[in-house]
Amino acid sequence: MKILRLLLGDQLNSNHSWFTKVDENVMYCMFEMRQETDYVTHHIQKVIGFFAAMRTFAKELEKANHKVIYLKINDPKNSQHLTQNLQNIFDEFQIENFEYQEPDEFRLDKQLSDFCKEINIKSKVFSTEHFYTEKQDLATFFSGKKQFLMENFYREMRKKHQILMVNNQPEGGIWNYDKSNRKKWNQEVLIPPAKNFDNDVSTIVQEIKIANIKTIGNINERYFEYPINRSQSLEQLNYFCEHLLIHFGDYQDAMHTDTVFLFHSKLSFAMNTKMISPKEIIEKVLQTYRENSAEIDISQVEGFIRQIIGWREYMRGMYWMLMPSYKTENFLDNKTKLPDFFWTGNTKMNCVKNAVKNSLENGYAHHIQRLMITGNFALLTQIHPDEIDAWYLGIYVDAIEWVQLPNTRGMSQFADGGKIATKPYISSGSYIQKMSNYCNSCSYNYKEKTTKNACPFNSLYWNFLDEKKAQLSSNFRMKMMYSLLNKMTASEIAAIQEKAHHIINNLDEY
Ligand code: FAD
Ligand code: SF4
Repeated sequence: MKILRLLLGDQLNSNHSWFTKVDENVMYCMFEMRQETDYVTHHIQKVIGFFAAMRTFAKELEKANHKVIYLKINDPKNSQHLTQNLQNIFDEFQIENFEYQEPDEFRLDKQLSDFCKEINIKSKVFSTEHFYTEKQDLATFFSGKKQFLMENFYREMRKKHQILMVNNQPEGGIWNYDKSNRKKWNQEVLIPPAKNFDNDVSTIVQEIKIANIKTIGNINERYFEYPINRSQSLEQLNYFCEHLLIHFGDYQDAMHTDTVFLFHSKLSFAMNTKMISPKEIIEKVLQTYRENSAEIDISQVEGFIRQIIGWREYMRGMYWMLMPSYKTENFLDNKTKLPDFFWTGNTKMNCVKNAVKNSLENGYAHHIQRLMITGNFALLTQIHPDEIDAWYLGIYVDAIEWVQLPNTRGMSQFADGGKIATKPYISSGSYIQKMSNYCNSCSYNYKEKTTKNACPFNSLYWNFLDEKKAQLSSNFRMKMMYSLLNKMTASEIAAIQEKAHHIINNLDEY
């Protein structure tokens, strides 16, 4: 019996039970394909990161005596198409059984399940053995419920896995320290240097050029900074626990022109490729906390744990509960075209310039930059969610549809009408001023609404509320904002509308 086992680019889990023994009847296959490089324009660091991590993983499997067929991007045998490559290997090696791990993306899941219906050999699907939850767990958890609150799911996860729990009560007395996770960073504590690796990826960069793959953003090909194997992923985790966890919660939402990563872990790429698992991250964070509880406050730890067992698992469950129709939702009927400065950073708005610059240079922006700068701006200017999705899916090294889509279309753009976020995440310039130093050196004035130099976020914010009244004014959490809007005079509103429409119609001037 000859078994072919497929490993997708984000299935680099070396602790998977598949690898516990070497079986000479089993062959693994991995492909670098145009099918995957071209479905959206990706950041160069994303393509390189995936290929570098896949190549390293394949080598490690071979070193452990597993048989591996690896097709590089320019390999003449590579059809560039997943199912064609599989069929070619079936034929060449007279494969009798095909096995694969559950893809996390709807697109690939469908492609493989359709393929398995057509082939005349047996096939079997395995778990990736990565997440805390199974794909359908969230649908079961929320079955019969009208609201799908992350907080309810998160508490259930804490109880189920006994994480930060004492006698079935939350450790420290409260479930959520979100309120203490909102400090502005004023250079009062030093941010340790970001943990970077110096992976030489110049060979792969050359191959990408030869293949003529269209990418965005920049790369330092001698010093590729993200982890590309398991030991680097563990190093990244250890660095976070040793140097960054202590202030993670405090400055989780802060933004500053002097720093890209602040106290963020930079673990999303390693985790989303499954080089490292959420469970081992949580265990290490808890261990660090237990050993250093005199220095590390529970609010720092809870803030981090919530992101992983809460938001990350929740987003995956919501994706599988709501796909495929989720991908086309546009509750607010937004239609504006994405401005060019999302691809260049060429804007006078200092906050947007910084968030886009980080994204182009590092394939990274932290959560609040994604949500409250670029996401906020896109929502206020009413950009079509398809364009926003394509940008977010392409630009970040950690962007895979199962996590990008619910974050973008749901949490950030409210295009699902409130399935994920209970109200739209929008703000005027004052929030950005409160959480960052961006406004200090901006061409615009965050205090002004309609003057020539007024911060664009201000008129856009009130104009958005006004234009989306029909969809949003009955939302209980929007009541206060609408009562403020209702107090404005007709002439104030007219001036705001005029300013906002000028911005929306001339985005690239701003
Ligand atoms: P940290 O701040 O150190 O957080 C630790 C971990 O928590 C992250 O690595 C991540 O795995 C998890 N996490 C935190 N917030 C979320 C969240 N909202 N959803 C899921 N996991 C979360 N994350 C992705 O992994 N891929 C994406 O494509 C992606 N797109 C996003 C798009 C938008 C519009 C927004 C608002 C958020 C998006 N996120 C995405 C979530 C979050 O911004 C990133 O996970 C985080 O910035 C990665 O950096 P980090 O590892 O330093 O995170
Ligand atoms: Fe951004 Fe407005 Fe502040 Fe400028 S003034 S940085 S545009 S929030």
